[in-house]
Amino acid sequence: MSTVEAKQKRLDQIKADILAQNICPDLAKSAKNLVMGDGSAGAEVVFIGEAPGKNEDEQGLPFVGAAGKFLDEMLAGIGLKRDEVYITNIVKYRPPGNRDPYPDEKAAFLPFLQAQLEVIKPKLVVTLGRHSMDSLLPGLQISQCHGQAKRYREQVYMPLFHPAAALYNRSMRQTLIDDFVRIPKVLELIDLKSKKSTNKVKEKNNATK
Ligand code: URA
Repeated sequence: MSTVEAKQKRLDQIKADILAQNICPDLAKSAKNLVMGDGSAGAEVVFIGEAPGKNEDEQGLPFVGAAGKFLDEMLAGIGLKRDEVYITNIVKYRPPGNRDPYPDEKAAFLPFLQAQLEVIKPKLVVTLGRHSMDSLLPGLQISQCHGQAKRYREQVYMPLFHPAAALYNRSMRQTLIDDFVRIPKVLELIDLKSKKSTNKVKEKNNATK
C-alpha cells in the first residue's frame, strides 16, 4: 500500500469515528451528508472552510457551489487542480439555512480537523474565512493578517478571506486573488527553510564526528 493510500485509510477512519461518536447529533439529523473532505491525502496544501452549504450537503463534497467554482479558478491560476490539494471544513455537517456554525459545533469538530491535519501533514494550511482561522489561529484579525504566512506550533498557516464573502465584493475579491497567488512563493520559502535546517543538522553532526 502506498503512503497516500495508507493516509486515505486513516482519513476514512476519522470519518467513521465522527459517525460512531454521533458528533453534533442535531446537525447530523438535519443534514443529508457528512462532508469530510476532497482531494489528495498526500497534499502539500490543505484548504479549510467554514461548513458545507446546500450544494455541498447534497453532493457530500466541500466547495462545489459558487464559492467552490471560484476556489477552483484560483487553484488553476497557480497551476493546481483540486485533486492535488486537500479541501475540508471546520464543521462537517451543513448548519440549517446556512447559518454560521455555533462555537460548540466548531469545538466539537476541532479534534477531528486536527486529526485530519496530523494524517496529511501538509506543508501549508490555508484557512478560508474567520471561522477556520479562529479555530486554528486564535486571537488574529483576518483584516490585518490575510495573506501572511504564520508559523504556529510547528505548522505554517496562511489565513485568507472566504471565497464566498469575496464573490460579490470587488475589492475583497481582488485582495483574495492577490493573496492566493502568493501560495507558491510561501511553499518555496517553506522548502528553503527546511533545507537550511537539514543542512545545519548535517553540519552539526559532521562537527561532532
Ligand atoms: N463554504 C464553506 O465554507 N465550505 C464549503 O464547503 C462551501 C462553502
